[in-house]
Amino acid sequence: MKTKFSLLQRYLLISLMALFLTSVWSYSAFQDIEQENRRIVEEAIPISNAASELFRLLLDQELSVRGYTYNQDTQSLEQYEATKQSLEETIRIIRELDERHPIMQELIQDEALPLIQKMEAFHASQIELIEAGDVIAANARRYSGIDYINQFRDVDAALREDIDNIIQQATLRSETASNSAKWVIFIVVGIALLLLMTFMHTFRLERSKQALIHRSLHDALTGIWNRRAFDEKLERMWDEATDTGDVLALLLLDIDAFKTYNDTYGHLAGDACLERVANAIDKAVGEDGMTARYGGEEFAVLLRPRHARQPKEIAERIRQAVLKLNIAHEMYTPLRKVSVSIGVAEHAPTPSGDKTDLIEAADQALYQAKQSGRNRVSVGQATNVG
Ligand code: GH3
Ligand code: MG
Ligand code: MG
Repeated sequence: MKTKFSLLQRYLLISLMALFLTSVWSYSAFQDIEQENRRIVEEAIPISNAASELFRLLLDQELSVRGYTYNQDTQSLEQYEATKQSLEETIRIIRELDERHPIMQELIQDEALPLIQKMEAFHASQIELIEAGDVIAANARRYSGIDYINQFRDVDAALREDIDNIIQQATLRSETASNSAKWVIFIVVGIALLLLMTFMHTFRLERSKQALIHRSLHDALTGIWNRRAFDEKLERMWDEATDTGDVLALLLLDIDAFKTYNDTYGHLAGDACLERVANAIDKAVGEDGMTARYGGEEFAVLLRPRHARQPKEIAERIRQAVLKLNIAHEMYTPLRKVSVSIGVAEHAPTPSGDKTDLIEAADQALYQAKQSGRNRVSVGQATNVG
């Protein structure tokens, strides 16, 4: 049985999809925030490491230059050069990282670098004085470098504070983002579950409705269309044919000597026989027409014939199919197996005509088939057919 989605179910499905997309979208948005924050933290750490090197290097540089001023030894000068190189390298790293992701640009550009430049200029002038042999002048300002170091102490503290803040803020943003994501997903999943439950409920309702409709139009014993479905179909086809001028054909079938069958084999066997015969008829008709249980052990086949011989051909096909079932019926002689008699009638409906004309004509033909010995097809006088 095919189940189509009702309007409500379609709306529910659309809402479910929208919710699903929302949760996917918000999850990926929060993922992006987290990723960005992780990047900030990851880049802040190398800058922080490089920045914290600055103070140590400047101090080393200051001590080397002071040592050189004091002793004029080449070892201190070499140490100064080596430290200077490390310092330049560190500044390069900071600049590069900062360019890719400006974290504390202002502090580095406006405070740290000018101060470092001033210190470098001071150290260079000290070395120049020594190299020029003016040891006295150089010694006179031997401790001036320490002022710069003290100034840089504040810059160093500010740098550390900045880095700490950056890391703290990124971590906080991350936490807030993942908390929000959790809530969004929690709410979305909750609503989705409610929608899903509603959907399942309407699905069950829809299915039981469909099952009821199916049951109301099908015969419980044989599974084929029932009398009500037949009447509705006849009504519709009759109206259509009245408009189009088409011919309708009706086959009425009755199992031969069925009372005796019941008497011989019992009612349950009778039921089983009815079921097999019904299915054989249904199969023999196929898509050519509508097969219904008309009542008791009588069946009806309704069709709009594609050509004049078709109704009789179908009737003959059915008769053969029932015989082929080989259902033993010992008391029904001389055949000794279950057969059907079929009456065929055709009618072109007119606005003044009536459906019962077609039914009566088919019934009459069936009566004829019975009268002429059963297990046969009788075609009635075509009424209204040109
Ligand atoms: P005929 O060849 O003239 O048709 O003889 P018949 O015995 O078949 O006569 P009739 O058509 O009048 O008999 C109908 C019988 O079908 C009577 C009834 O017991 C039996 N019958 C009708 N419906 C059912 C059913 O659902 N199950 C069973 N087991 N028998 C049914
Ligand atoms: Mg009968
Ligand atoms: Mg009968």
